[in-house]
Amino acid sequence: MRVIRHFLADGAPQPAAARHGDVYDPNQGTVQARVGLGDAAVLERAVAAARAAQPGWAATNPQRRARVMFEFKRLVEANMEELAHLLSAEHGKVIADSKGDIQRGLEVIEFACGIPHLLKGEHTPGAGPGIDVLSMRVPLGIGAGITPFNFPAMIPMWMFGVAIACGNAFILKPSERDPGVPMRLAELMLEAGAPAGILQVVHGDKEMVDAILDHPDIAAVSFVGSSDIAHYVYSRGVAAGKRVQAMGGAKNHGIVMPDADLDQVVNDLTGAAFGSAGERCMALPVVVPVGEKTALALREKLVPAMAKLKVGISTDPEAHYGPVVNAAHKARVENWIQTCADEGAELVVDGRGYKLQGHEEGFFIGPTLFDHVTPDMSSYREEIFGPVLQMVRAESFEDALALPSRHQYGNGVAIFTRNGHAAREFAARVNVGMVGINVPIPVPVAYHSFGGWKRSAFGDHNQHGTEGVRFWTKVKTITQRWPDGSPDGSNAFVIPTMG
Ligand code: NAD
Repeated sequence: MRVIRHFLADGAPQPAAARHGDVYDPNQGTVQARVGLGDAAVLERAVAAARAAQPGWAATNPQRRARVMFEFKRLVEANMEELAHLLSAEHGKVIADSKGDIQRGLEVIEFACGIPHLLKGEHTPGAGPGIDVLSMRVPLGIGAGITPFNFPAMIPMWMFGVAIACGNAFILKPSERDPGVPMRLAELMLEAGAPAGILQVVHGDKEMVDAILDHPDIAAVSFVGSSDIAHYVYSRGVAAGKRVQAMGGAKNHGIVMPDADLDQVVNDLTGAAFGSAGERCMALPVVVPVGEKTALALREKLVPAMAKLKVGISTDPEAHYGPVVNAAHKARVENWIQTCADEGAELVVDGRGYKLQGHEEGFFIGPTLFDHVTPDMSSYREEIFGPVLQMVRAESFEDALALPSRHQYGNGVAIFTRNGHAAREFAARVNVGMVGINVPIPVPVAYHSFGGWKRSAFGDHNQHGTEGVRFWTKVKTITQRWPDGSPDGSNAFVIPTMG
């Protein structure tokens, strides 16, 4: 069986790992590869190579660093088909969606190509007599990224695209469930001209994550995954003196106002709730129709639209979505369906027990719909992360606004309406980080930044955009004076002022 090893720059042999993780073929339900889970000794090798490579990379002028990013983008585009097939084969999302995953990552690489402009500092000539002040952004040194299974191309690129362009060395610890694409990205980065040691990949689980969080030479950690682990990573990393951004889980609501175009809503909602089998942190797993009439009309259109969805293997061009990532995740989602039913919600469409002919052991779950879900239910409070849509009925705009605002997660939210005032009011008042107005999945473009609120993100800076540049750099401010040799007569015992 194929064994996936670490991507280390030192080129020395890698002894067989003591522990392995299984990489499944979610279409068939079989194990297709094993990934060696690393430990502190593996990390030490990566850090040593990063330490050796980073000063030279930081001293490379930003335009040259940008050229490497341009070349990397070209190489990823040239290898798009291969990467998308590899991604689908390990994750289970359909090929078109895998291409979207890669493309959204590439958009951050395009942003990072502008790094010479983004890193320009501030300069105040004559801040005092003969005194100039310069502020500049300098790289942190070695950064690390710990990423989830659901976007194995985009999320690593969010992180290393900006971190590397800023002059850092980067160590990526991708999800052990689908590590194939991150490995290929590291190979392509090397081929694009990044020096060895600037992007390395180490595999592992908690043991490797802890080693990263505790390593004194790693200055910053970017994490994306579930909230409990995000909080853990944030707390432990900050306690070790690191800069940490840790994005967590989500439970995004779609508010449907009585004046919304329901055909458009149903089209958007089916894609946003069931696309990628609901394994997206910006999925819309909760729909909130406002008013009884809206709820009835929406349900009437939604149920037949769901019946038309095709669940298929990830290479089926007709399939709307594919299997979930592994057996454990399938069982978890199906348990949540049972819990939601036990909690008293009406199970309108049950996707459990979905069997695809010829792929009976694949991890498929049919689209599932609950109505009359209420905020006290644990299945509403927690993230399910599967193709399950929960309808929570609201009586008024204020009720609808309160639901996502009070929820423990605050990643994304959407409102569907033709009323500009309602939309504006909603966007201004909702207690959530990313808002869509008639946009079901409001993932910001690369030059804006991505990040939720509440338990969806711990730390101060968002991913990519100028927030990303701030996260991966620190500010150095230089106050300089070049005296002409004659004493200026100032009292050196008093704090200097510019007055
Ligand atoms: P996960 O939390 O299980 O894993 C994320 C990373 O943490 C992986 O690299 C994993 O190896 C590591 N990890 C797992 N257990 C750990 C432990 N006990 N201690 C330390 N590290 C550990 O998440 P996942 O299932 O891979 O991804 C899905 C989750 O990610 C969902 O909750 C989803 O909402 C979230 N997500 C959030 C965003 C966002 O930007 N907010 C984006 C994508 C996914």
